[in-house]
Amino acid sequence: MNATHDPEASENHSSSEVDVLVVGAGITGIYQLYRARECGFSVLLLETGRGVGGTWFWNRYPGARFDSESYTYGYLFSRELFEEWEWQEHFAPQPETERYLNHVVDRFDLRRHIRFGARVTSAEYEERSGAWRVRAADGSESRARFVIAATGVLSVPYTPEVPGVEDFRGEMYHTGLWPAEPVDFYGKRVAIIGTSSSGVQVVPAIIDQVASLTIYQRTANWCTPLNNAPITAEEQTRLRLDFEELRETLNTSVHGFHHPPHDRAAFEDSDDERQRFYETMWNSPGFTKLTSNYSDLLSNPEANAEWCAFIAGKIRAIVDDPETAERLIPKNQRFGEKRPPFIAGYYEAFNRENVSLVDLRETPISRITATGIETTEGKQDFDLIVWATGFDFGTGALARMGIQGRGRLRLTDYWADGPRTFLGVQAHGFPNLFFPGGPHAAAGNNPRYNGDQVDFIIDLLVHARAHGYDVIEVTERSEERWTNMVNRGADSPLSFGESSYYFGTNIPGKPRRYLLNSGGRPKLFSVIADVVANDYDAFSLSQVSASTEASESTEASESTEASEATEAAGATS
Ligand SMILES: Cc1cc2nc3c(=O)[nH]c(=O)nc-3n(C[C@H](O)[C@H](O)[C@H](O)COP(=O)(O)OP(=O)(O)OC[C@H]3O[C@@H](n4cnc5c(N)ncnc54)[C@H](O)[C@@H]3O)c2cc1C
Repeated sequence: MNATHDPEASENHSSSEVDVLVVGAGITGIYQLYRARECGFSVLLLETGRGVGGTWFWNRYPGARFDSESYTYGYLFSRELFEEWEWQEHFAPQPETERYLNHVVDRFDLRRHIRFGARVTSAEYEERSGAWRVRAADGSESRARFVIAATGVLSVPYTPEVPGVEDFRGEMYHTGLWPAEPVDFYGKRVAIIGTSSSGVQVVPAIIDQVASLTIYQRTANWCTPLNNAPITAEEQTRLRLDFEELRETLNTSVHGFHHPPHDRAAFEDSDDERQRFYETMWNSPGFTKLTSNYSDLLSNPEANAEWCAFIAGKIRAIVDDPETAERLIPKNQRFGEKRPPFIAGYYEAFNRENVSLVDLRETPISRITATGIETTEGKQDFDLIVWATGFDFGTGALARMGIQGRGRLRLTDYWADGPRTFLGVQAHGFPNLFFPGGPHAAAGNNPRYNGDQVDFIIDLLVHARAHGYDVIEVTERSEERWTNMVNRGADSPLSFGESSYYFGTNIPGKPRRYLLNSGGRPKLFSVIADVVANDYDAFSLSQVSASTEASESTEASESTEASEATEAAGATS
């Protein structure tokens, strides 16, 4: 790659010259680090947090656990790793996943390449050298040929702007920024704001400790049982015996799950058969209700409505108070148009004397006071407030990294009207910058999708190195075609709902743009195959001469000093 870069140089963390700088130590960044090391690149990984795990480092709230089966979420690149790690439950809780990711980092000797407590605040492309200059909040500065931002789609917690928040004198936590030390709920009057995937996990986990629990719901969601269970000894043996088959399924399936799709459309079955099938679905694990439901669940409104009616019936049967049950049943929302939450004991919680539901559509919060929450209906006092209000999905972390590409073009300006990418891995005008697991990517079982992107990026870097290229930039045309494909798919009548975070509409002022890849994994596979077969012609690959690089290095440090001066004067990026 770069003859002056010794692959071992990055082993000393004070080194600031590497081939590849990875940002983010979640499941994607760790894999990216592993693959880049495996291919002989010098690598440094910068991570804001003080530990490994990304999502599973930050989301320590009570009840946090997988909705993907543990063994389908973990890495598949090493059979030995798969065999030696025994997941205890089909859907592992957060501490187990954090332990697993730490185990991977140590087992493959990756920790020495990671600098924790290093939030990247700026990444500037040096036009003439083709390298990136990266600065972090810990004061460090690095220079890298390639920057790979594995910064996550759900890594920037969002708290709505509610007047008076700073006045509250009790304890307050966001599920996505949960403290490492345990939070004591015992005997406290607790409020939870938000009833999506995280909020519905917290409720049953704390219910036995609190004096009272008030749940503030903005949007009711179609919640169905997770149906978790310990993994038995026989299942452990079976998993190991079937590893190759499982890996093949996960590496090729549409959603990255191992659940086989159903081969029948809803109305091919009789009324009785459908009701029996819905009961089977209700009792099946996790995402099966989406991936293995009737084949026309998402394309036939009548099929979707019938499945929703079945779930509504379940809610009415579980929740004693009919008014509460009705509030918990989504109105005008198809199953699957939002990310479905999975539950264990959530609806049952509403039968407790000390649990109540506030519907924020009827009585919105007007302010937080020193002692509690005031809605249009009145005020309630609390000792502790939990914000389970989600994330700035898709683009949030990249938008906060101070990225400037060619001609000092800011990524935030380039994406002012929504992300433009190719394969969800690169944007035109930002050569040598990649972002696996970013916008236009993840849907379904995340590590599988993100892993596809990591593998693609590494193959591309190796290809460029083999041919003596050190600048990789997606062509405008390739980017346009991919972005149009994403936007067209999202416009189809049966695509996702208006208020889904998939469109970024949970964040005030964010343009409504589809943030996933609407072509799904099959589209990703087919375009990657095409690109590779055509010698990566979707990218412009070029070379930077060593002499220009040297002069640019001086120029860049001058420009960095200049921009530091601007920043010190109060300018923001
Ligand atoms: C509570 C919760 C449960 C989930 N459950 C599932 C599930 O069951 N199945 C599933 O498939 N997906 C699930 N997800 C989605 C989950 O985000 C992905 O599965 C996965 O964690 C993505 O990994 P990642 O490495 O791409 O990103 P992350 O895990 O988000 O890691 C990104 C890392 O980048 C760091 N970072 C960001 N910006 C910077 C910066 N400027 N400088 C330095 N570091 C930075 C962050 O601190 C973070 O550690 C869940 C998400 C949440 C929040």
